[in-house]
Parts: sequence; C-alpha cells; structure tokens
Amino acid sequence: MDMIKQNRSNKMIPHIPAKYRAGNPHSHSKRSNWFSFVVITLIVGGWLSITACNPEDVPLSEENVPATQLDQKEWAIALHGGAGTISPDMDEERKQLYYDGLTDALTIGQLVLEEGGTAVEAVVATVQSLENNPVFNAGRGSVFTREGKHELDAAIMDGRTMEAGALTGLTTVRNPIILARKVMESSPHIFFSGLGAEEFADQTDVERVENDYFSTDERREQFQRAQDRSSTLIEPGWQRDNDLDLNLKYGTVGAVARDREGNLAAGTSTGGMTNKQFGRVGDVPIIGGGTFANQMVAISATGWGEKIMQQVSANTIANLMEFGNHSLEDAMVIMLNERLEPGDAGFIGVDQFGNISMQMNTRGMYRASASSDGERVILIWEDE
Ligand code: ASP
Repeated sequence: MDMIKQNRSNKMIPHIPAKYRAGNPHSHSKRSNWFSFVVITLIVGGWLSITACNPEDVPLSEENVPATQLDQKEWAIALHGGAGTISPDMDEERKQLYYDGLTDALTIGQLVLEEGGTAVEAVVATVQSLENNPVFNAGRGSVFTREGKHELDAAIMDGRTMEAGALTGLTTVRNPIILARKVMESSPHIFFSGLGAEEFADQTDVERVENDYFSTDERREQFQRAQDRSSTLIEPGWQRDNDLDLNLKYGTVGAVARDREGNLAAGTSTGGMTNKQFGRVGDVPIIGGGTFANQMVAISATGWGEKIMQQVSANTIANLMEFGNHSLEDAMVIMLNERLEPGDAGFIGVDQFGNISMQMNTRGMYRASASSDGERVILIWEDE
C-alpha cells in the first residue's frame, strides 16, 4: 500500500474553469486596482444606503438567477443498469427483478446522500449494489468473452478534483468500482489494465473471487446463443436494433450523484459486450468516453462502447454545457441525435444544481433517480 500511496502529489492539478473557482485572480495594474477600489466603494456605499432606508423593498431578483439554479436540489442521484432493445413483453417476474435491483441500489445511494455522504461515496455504494446483483452486466452477472471468461471494466471520477480511477480486463476483483476508487485515491496513476490491474488489486484489501463467480446460467445461455449466431457487436455489418435483446448485448451499470456540498461524481462498471474478443476495451473505463465528471456535470454512459468512445461522448456532453451553454438535457439530446445513431446509447447525468437527465436513443434503459425535493423515479422503457 505504501508504494501506491507515494507520489500522490505528482498528479496534475485539475483544470478548473475560471467561472467555477471561488475567486478569479487576474493580475491588475496599480492604477486599475485604485480605480476598482473607488468604483466598488461607490457601488457598495450606494447599495448600503438604499437597503438601510427600506430593506423590505430590495428583494432578491429571481429574474437575474438562471432558471436551473432556482430549484437547486440539496442532493440528487441517478443510476442506470444498461440501455438497448428491451422487449416490452418481458415477463412480470423478470420485470420485478429489475425494479427491485434498481430500487435497492437507488435507496442505498440516496441514504448515503441524505446522511451527508459525499457524491463519490454515493456512487460507489450504488454501483456496488448493482455489481452484486446478477441481473445486471457488471460484477456477478457479467457477460462472457469469446473465450468463455469474464473481463471487467470500471471507472470513477470525482468532479470536485477531476481525479479519476479506471480499470480494464479485471478477472478476479469482486467489485471493480471499489478498486477504481482505490486507484483514484491511492495511486499516482489513473488507468490500469489486465495483469497490472490485478497486481494493483494485490496491493489492496479488495475482495477477490474466482473468475467463474461472475458467471450465471442466464449469461451462459446468452453467450451460447451469441456464439451460434457468431454475433459480436464489433464486427463490421452489425445492425443496430437487431433482434438480439438487451441482455445479450449490453447491461452496464452506472451512477452519478450531487452531494450536499454541491460536489459531483460519476462511476460506471461493466462486463462489456457478450462474446467480445480477448482484451477488448469498451467506453466505460475511458475517462471522457463512458464516464466523466467535473464541477459542472457528472455523466455515465451505456450502450455500444465503440460508438460512445469514438465520440468521446461523456466529455462532449460536458463541453456542450460549458462552452455551448446548453442545459444538461439539451447537451445529451444533441449527443444522441447529432453524433450518435438510433440504437447506440443512453446517458444519465446530474448537473451542479442537482438537475437530473436520463436520455437514450435505444428502446429502453434501466434507470432510476431521486433527489432532495422528494422526486423518485424508476423506469425501463423509452416512452414511460
Ligand atoms: N458500453 C458497454 C461496453 O461497450 C456496454 C454496455 O453499456 O452495456 O462495454
């Protein structure tokens, strides 16, 4: 552990846009300093005399506050359990399994935030719950690789510091999101792969399992069906929205949160895509691809990893907001409609004011959200 802890100070200081910093320390000449002093004194003096005369007459003007800030939430959380073609004919028992899994994970994350936990803590707890649930394609229940094994990817990002931890090709770590957090908090590096990732895990106390811990009968059946059709989503000619169901293709899990301090975090975890080639890396652990957070927004993606990472999707959504002044929802819709194609992806996000958005261009996305204003939703299909 000592080895991992050293050199923390070597990490780059994150870029924080001027408009989000506490102060904005530009250098001034002495003359402009003096001029500013006189102007500020006059303004403050004038304002004080007005408010002293009649404080009731000077209410805070809501017109000058952007709409997004008016209903600022103390905390907010959203999660997903994968996007894709979800059959509307799903049987009731199965549907209930999804609702229960989403409900449990949401409740866990919500409790962390209600009790004053950080966005990072809420994201880890939520994703861990989804990883432990075999109905989702992350942790136990992960899809099979072409060799009939499991290779897991995960990432987490703390929007406050813009520090991140990412892993790909894990084979024995029970909860990849916990290890991703350890990478973020105890390593000078951000991204470990394969053997290096396992070796990093050896230096920590994370729980280890045999690779077949991740297998379930259902995933094995899906794998066999995929092999029979020799379907891999990364082969040229693959059609979007074909007759393969979501459980065969996708099912990644993720969470985004805003805590009471106003800090944001995003985390994503996956077994990847059924029948994927040995060593294939998806969008999930690519910072800015499937996972991203800064002081303005936190995003987690799900869907066709190659498409999501090609468009650096999560970071592009954040840039549309920061540099294009789009709302979170507009930025996601632009990404889904103008950069990606129908059937490609779904995103969940939360902005600095606690606004939540969950958008997809697939037929469904297992998703849920809650916030301090009492709203709590659990949804599966696109048009719900
Ligand atoms: N995006 C994931 C991947 O390509 C799959 C998913 O979202 O289910 O690995």
